[in-house]
Amino acid sequence: QAKARGRNGYRFYAPAMSGDGELRLRMEALLRRAIDKDEIHLAYQPQVEIDSGRLIGVEALLRWNSPELGQVAPSSFIPLAEDTGFIGQLGQWVLQEACRQMVAWEARGLAVPKIAVNLSVRQFERGGMAAAVAGVLQDTGLAPQRLQLEVTESVIMNTGDALQYVNDLHAVGVCLAIDDFGTGYSSLAYLKQLPVQTLKIDRSFIKDIPQDPDDEAIAIAIIQLGKSMNLSVIAEGVEREDQAAFLLRHGCNLAQGYLYGKPLAHGEILARWGVEQNA
Ligand code: C2E
Ligand code: MG
Ligand code: MG
Ligand code: MG
Repeated sequence: QAKARGRNGYRFYAPAMSGDGELRLRMEALLRRAIDKDEIHLAYQPQVEIDSGRLIGVEALLRWNSPELGQVAPSSFIPLAEDTGFIGQLGQWVLQEACRQMVAWEARGLAVPKIAVNLSVRQFERGGMAAAVAGVLQDTGLAPQRLQLEVTESVIMNTGDALQYVNDLHAVGVCLAIDDFGTGYSSLAYLKQLPVQTLKIDRSFIKDIPQDPDDEAIAIAIIQLGKSMNLSVIAEGVEREDQAAFLLRHGCNLAQGYLYGKPLAHGEILARWGVEQNA
């Protein structure tokens, strides 16, 4: 309690605080209760092979539907959860729920190859993620290689012991992806040391393909980099056929984006990719 009060003063004056401070405090209080009140859930966005349309995985994306505030975007409540330390609990819930859902789909006849879960900097920098992840895998019975953890370049570059933490996660057997690749400042020498398997080309580079030659050049460079480092490369934010055709032409056969599906409810994933559909 004392600790929570002690943090209030800091939060109130925190420069990172955006917009209305009172709204922020209110949102924080509501968010802390959101798990228990069943206001949050995961949406699942398909990741596909472009040429075959085959489902290769889903990305779990957090949703908060607050009776008081309405649908709140992750871009506003996740930074809040990070600032207030609540992200630990929230992140743990996401991990548990994502792995549980994979097993539940399988019981209904749909083996989704992989689920991607986003890790926030506050979860990652604390260390101990590997133990938490191992615990959740043990609890749910999901095979480690079917869980992919996504960290952004900036998370890795801003965490002192990142290499150690990534190695620890790798030892648990989970897959690792670098999210929003191209927007951070990773040094390639450093990247080379990390046991990651996947680069996700940030949506901002995909958005204006094929109109913008610079974005095209960046996308091609990332695809080539992935190839030469033996990493798989997936494009984020693919919305149109011309973007998909460009990617395919340049050797990237994996995509995620509205063209293939918006983030969906678990039942919608089942309805679209479940046994009946494949039979
Ligand atoms: P992200 O991990 O890069 O996730 C991709 C975001 O792009 C998602 O936004 C997704 O809905 C959106 N997106 C996917 N395809 C398209 C497309 O074709 N066009 C457009 N315009 N957008 C597309 P969302 O769900 O709002 O999430 C935003 C960010 O919030 C995520 O970016 C991620 O950084 C963070 N986030 C979401 N869920 C979690 C979570 O459980 N934990 C943590 N730490 N962060 C999360
Ligand atoms: Mg992500
Ligand atoms: Mg991303
Ligand atoms: Mg992105």
